[in-house]
Amino acid sequence: MKENLDFQFLKPGAIRTRYAPAPTGSLHIGSARTALFNYLFAKKNQGSFILRIEDTDISRNESIFEKEILETLKWLGIEWDEGPDNGGSFGPYRQSERLEIYKKYLKKLLDENKAYYCFCTEEELDAQRQEQMSRGEAPKYSGTCANFAPEEIKKNLGEKKKYIIRFRVYPQKIIVNDLIRGVIEFDTTLIGDFPIAKFLEYPLYNFSVAVDDIEMKISHVIRGEDLLPNTPKQILIQEALFLHSREEKLSLPSWVHLPLILGSDRSKLSKRREATAVSDYKKDGYLSEAIINFISFLGWNPGTNREIYSLASLVKEFSLEKIQKSGAVFNLKRLDFLNGFYIRQRSIEKLTDLCLPYLIKSKFISIDSKKRYIINEMKEIISFNYLEKIISIYQERLKKLSEIVELTDFFFKDKLEYAKELLKWRQMKDEDVILSLNRLEIVLSKIQEEDWHKDNLQRILLAEAEKNSNRGELLWPLRVAMTGKENSAGPFEIAEILGKEKVLKRMQEAKCLI
Ligand code: GLU
Repeated sequence: MKENLDFQFLKPGAIRTRYAPAPTGSLHIGSARTALFNYLFAKKNQGSFILRIEDTDISRNESIFEKEILETLKWLGIEWDEGPDNGGSFGPYRQSERLEIYKKYLKKLLDENKAYYCFCTEEELDAQRQEQMSRGEAPKYSGTCANFAPEEIKKNLGEKKKYIIRFRVYPQKIIVNDLIRGVIEFDTTLIGDFPIAKFLEYPLYNFSVAVDDIEMKISHVIRGEDLLPNTPKQILIQEALFLHSREEKLSLPSWVHLPLILGSDRSKLSKRREATAVSDYKKDGYLSEAIINFISFLGWNPGTNREIYSLASLVKEFSLEKIQKSGAVFNLKRLDFLNGFYIRQRSIEKLTDLCLPYLIKSKFISIDSKKRYIINEMKEIISFNYLEKIISIYQERLKKLSEIVELTDFFFKDKLEYAKELLKWRQMKDEDVILSLNRLEIVLSKIQEEDWHKDNLQRILLAEAEKNSNRGELLWPLRVAMTGKENSAGPFEIAEILGKEKVLKRMQEAKCLI
């Protein structure tokens, strides 16, 4: 096992990994992890990372998903050296464009009698399966068409009978030498002759993958554990097509099956409980660095206490030995923690840029033809700098960008809606609130516009509160009147940004509520 992990003897460039999505949906968190681990392993070993689109299943593919997968990988920073858009020496990289290659190899297997035409109908296959199951056997192909005479095959083909192509499986033990799990043995008698193509121009998954991994000189197949049952089939195909001598065995890929990703309750990750598409996390305001950092720990661990890893530092630290065998639990709290960290790393300018689309989408803000920012409800023109101030007081507590809307809505609303009870600090009564608001009005209206900034407001309001030694009774109603919220950033910062006029107006409105 150990020497398998030592790649020093291979020339630089010999490591070639691939991520091979079928474009049948958005990029899933688990798939992003597969892509990332392949990328990291290739880059760590000065190798190449290949993107191959597995689009032979015509009924399920959609080019929109291919586009989305490519965009999402790029957004994450997982760039490929060879792929459908940038080409490479082993292309084409879309399986739908490689049909001639598969056809050539399918014919070869048929000619060598390593594969055969199967004319069984769906109903016949179904009946066989039922019968086997009723006998308590695991269903597998019974072999009805395995030994047809050449004339019979010719006749059936001549009559245009529907067929599939099956791979002939002889009883033997297949060893998958998984670099994480060690040796896994499969008994081929349980597999049976399996389909490899619907017809010569329509190869099935196991066949096209097995061919491409060899043709593209993939050195390591790194993929999810869910694909492990396919591995012996792919090994059989590769050995039948490409293995002619013991030495050639060295050129077959090594296998790495990554642990399952489990939902927070340790059952399989489910779309219903956790969002699974990376694009959903992006929409929600998770940063790509946070997602990369998060998924890198889904089944891998550097073995230290360090939690923060950029893509570049992951390339340095990554190693297959540190991949675990047991399932990796998806913990959204950790993702939030990492996202908060990366949000705090952003400059205010950049963070404001990132938050703006959320404020625009929520219709709080728009940009007019002169590229000015407008608060829609008040038709008020504001500067980018004003927005930066708002964002800056929430940078510390923001866990995802989308939260900015709810946290800062009171800056963009003309009238706030909240229950009058919220204005009361502890045991305050209606009249206490009125008293506090009146005191606030008197003090605040005396402050000159040019002195209206947070330090000054803090000094003056704290001095006022000292007079009857209860800060809460003065500052709580002030904060609630300004924000309509139980929790918010500090009152002095908020008052500074809102400005004198709006603050006094909100004191009035609060009084009207009582
Ligand atoms: N195309 C397969 C899928 O999307 C993965 C193929 C592989 O990694 O072998 O599930």
